[in-house]
Formats: sequence, structure tokens, C-alpha cells
Amino acid sequence: MGLRLLLISTPVGPLSSGLGGGVELLLTNLVQVLQDRGHRITVVAPDQSVLPLPVQLVTLPGQWQPTAHTASRTMAVIQPEPSVLSAMWDYARQVQGDYDLILHVAYDWLPFYLTTFFTTPIAHFVSMGSLTEAMDHVITQVARTHPGTLGLCTHTQAQTFPDLESYFPLGGGLDLALYDYCETPGPDLAWVGRISPEKGLEDAIAVAIASQTPLKILGKLENEAYWHELQAKYPDAPVTYLGFFPTQEMQAHLRTCRALVMTPHWVEAFGNVAIEALACGVPVIAYRRGGPAEIVRHGQTGWLVEPDSIPGLVTALSNIDALDRRACRRQAETEFSMAALGDRFEQWFQHILHP
Ligand code: UDP
Repeated sequence: MGLRLLLISTPVGPLSSGLGGGVELLLTNLVQVLQDRGHRITVVAPDQSVLPLPVQLVTLPGQWQPTAHTASRTMAVIQPEPSVLSAMWDYARQVQGDYDLILHVAYDWLPFYLTTFFTTPIAHFVSMGSLTEAMDHVITQVARTHPGTLGLCTHTQAQTFPDLESYFPLGGGLDLALYDYCETPGPDLAWVGRISPEKGLEDAIAVAIASQTPLKILGKLENEAYWHELQAKYPDAPVTYLGFFPTQEMQAHLRTCRALVMTPHWVEAFGNVAIEALACGVPVIAYRRGGPAEIVRHGQTGWLVEPDSIPGLVTALSNIDALDRRACRRQAETEFSMAALGDRFEQWFQHILHP
């Protein structure tokens, strides 16, 4: 039977701005697959949010939350007032009786803390690994008091939290029809992601320089100071920043590349861009850590490299033609389809509603 779901988006920025990173794509894909399966969804998000598909969307005003990516471990909980985060959860509190389940897809302290005060169950999709002590504390507390209500992307992400015993592994999934397979790539390497220090773009630039391979950069320019630093440090690098694009255009650039290089300096919880590359037949070169290490099949759909080793990345690039691009697309089709995504989330919801 169809569920009535209240889906609370991230307060770091409007949907479609790119500030929400992979959460924006996940939310879009979830809405699509769950509505197709007969669930009724309302999405709650900051003002100016736009979604590329029909859904009931409630947008609320307020200041966006600062992103947690570059927080120090001891950073206190911050909430700029008037806060869109508190506005969204105040709305959720008022309408909770109209819903079977609240799905929370962001990484903020407040909703975890509020869990116990809500009468409608909350499913928390945890989109990042351990970043601050305050978040570790509140997340592990919810895992204890409301077992089964935490969904994580990968096991390596879960291992970053101290003593996280109970969680549901959810992975990711795509509408594969939106990604075109490309058999014969051009000369470029791709790097796709938010331009922010934890994503380690400098390592990809170093690979482009060392291998004299042109690098296309796509993604939200989140941290301009960091980007200017990189430009000043590598003025002659063979790199081009193309911009931040909707999925259709993004994949049109990505699919013609020889490989996607992923160089995060943090433990990437998942890495949507890895499965998007695979969907286009583009092999992935990534450090052997975090989500990409669980996604990429070393020697088949990409190469996993010793973390932080530029020579390792360069060697992997020189061996890229040994990989079969069809195997990449096949892996995306078998492991990261919308059906697979919908099945995992539905199982998780049933587990929460009928423990
Ligand atoms: N992305 C996009 N347009 C671009 C470049 C990237 O929509 O031009 C999206 C991409 O589809 C992916 C997200 O940005 O969903 C990045 O998510 P990922 O999980 O790789 O990392 P996160 O930002 O969540 O850390």
C-alpha cells in the first residue's frame, strides 16, 4: 500500500542550486521512483527550490545552514536565525499527523535531536561520514533509541562513526535513461563535484599536469577562494572549468571522457558522480577509501589507488584502456538502477514501520 511520506530536504541551499551536493540528485530520484510506486510525497525545502519533476513542494524562508564539510571536529552546533532548518522542522511538527513517515535527507543536529519528540517516525538518511563530535553524539544516540531508523550510503561511511551498531545500507541509484553510453571517448579526463577543499581537486589537477592530459572540471563552485588558490598555484595546468549543469548536460560532457578521477581528501560517504560516470561507460579512478572503494570494481570498472598518491593516479590513467567501458555501464544497470534504489528504500521504510 502506498505510504504518505514527508520528505525534508537539506537546509544548506535551495534544491537545484548544487549546494546540496549528491543529496539533490538522490532526492529527485527518490521522489520519482517512490511516486511511480504509488507513494504520496510532499517535499519540504528552502525557498527558491526547484525540482525537475511534478511533486507537491512546500518551500519555506529562512537563512541557509552553513555546510558541515569543512567543520573542525569540536565545532559547536550552529543555527543562523531566522533559520530555514527550524522553519522546515516546525512545519513537519505541525503536519506530521498527515503522514506515515518523515524522511530526512540532510546532515544537521536538530532533526536527530528532535526524533524523540515526534509522534510520526523519522527515517534519517545520513549523507556524510563522521565530521564533528556533536553530530557523532546525536547520531549514535538515535541509533540506540530508535534502532533501524538510520540509513547510510556505505559501510565505510558507517565505520567513521564511533560504535554505530544499527543502520540500514542504502547505496544510491540513477535513472539510467538519462545517461547515454559512450563507447569511444575523446582525450579528456573528467573531475566532477562541488569545488570545495574536502573534494581534493588539486590532486586531479596534479594528474593532468603530470600526464599532460586535458582535464574537464564540472560542478558547483562552492568555495571561490579555494578555486582562486588553485588557479594561482597551477596557472598553466591543462584544465578547463566548464560550470555546473543539470544532469542531462553534465552527463553529455562526462560521457566523452576517458575516465573520471575522484580525489576526495575526506571519507566520501558515497560519491554519486562515480555511478553517474559508470552509467555513461566511463571508468572511475579513485582513492581506495570511502564510498568509491565500495562502488568501483578494481580492474573491471575502474582503478582504486593508494589514498593521496598522485603517481598512483597517473599509473592508473596510463592503464585506463585495459578497462571495458561496457562493463561500467553494465555495473550501473545491475547495481545502481532506480528499481534497486526504490527497493532498498521501501525495505527500509517497512523495517521502520513494522519492526
Ligand atoms: N552535479 C551536477 N552538475 C554538475 C556537476 C555535478 O548536477 O555539473 C551533481 C552530480 O550529479 C552529483 C552531485 O553533483 O549528484 C555531487 O554529488 P556527490 O555524491 O558526488 O558528492 P557530494 O557533493 O554529495 O559530496
